[in-house]
Amino acid sequence: MELSSQEHFSKAALIESVLSQGSGIMGEILLNNDFSLRHQADRIVMENALEHYYSPEAARKIARYDAQGLFRPLKTAPTLQRGWLLQLESMEQVILALDFFYPAALDLYGSFLQHKITITPLRETLDRQTGMYRITQLLKEEQAQELIAKTCSSNNGCLRKVLWSISQVQEISTLPEEKKRVSMQIDEIPLLCREACNLLVAAARPLAKKNLPVTNGPSA
Ligand code: SF4
Repeated sequence: MELSSQEHFSKAALIESVLSQGSGIMGEILLNNDFSLRHQADRIVMENALEHYYSPEAARKIARYDAQGLFRPLKTAPTLQRGWLLQLESMEQVILALDFFYPAALDLYGSFLQHKITITPLRETLDRQTGMYRITQLLKEEQAQELIAKTCSSNNGCLRKVLWSISQVQEISTLPEEKKRVSMQIDEIPLLCREACNLLVAAARPLAKKNLPVTNGPSA
């Protein structure tokens, strides 16, 4: 699906196009054209074995904790709990539920399709930091590469595609190519990352602190 910058982006049209084959994927969620959503790992689980919900707001509750009951600070972490079926009544409700599961992700993909997305390299994000996070500007490239590999990995970090680089001249070398490329599958709404999030910036702080020059105390 490609939208020109003149076309009005509609979340409903985007979802309808993804559902043209009957079902589609967004992150860990399987969408069906009967306005139902479930974890895609529950695709073949009998519906009567799933806990049923009927309001878009239930998505907020489902997304809040993982299967171990731990809070999910990053909604795009691959830790969405299984075992639920959200049966909604309209496209408007589906949009609302998806915005609870993955805040702003539909808009971001719409901006991407219209070539309106703004992508910010990590160095620019860190250069903007003030207060206690200003120190992250000291982060070295090898530290950044390691941190990104750990924090953004799709296996245990985050499902978003990383569109930014470290700087205008430094690419990310520690993530696989498919993690940095949007593959435009007809039945998928990809989750995109246009700049380093607060979690990554916070995790950069202790690493950058190690780069402070060592000051010698007064000699005895
Ligand atoms: S920086 Fe982007 S890809 Fe990495 S963890 Fe944060 S949101 Fe996910």
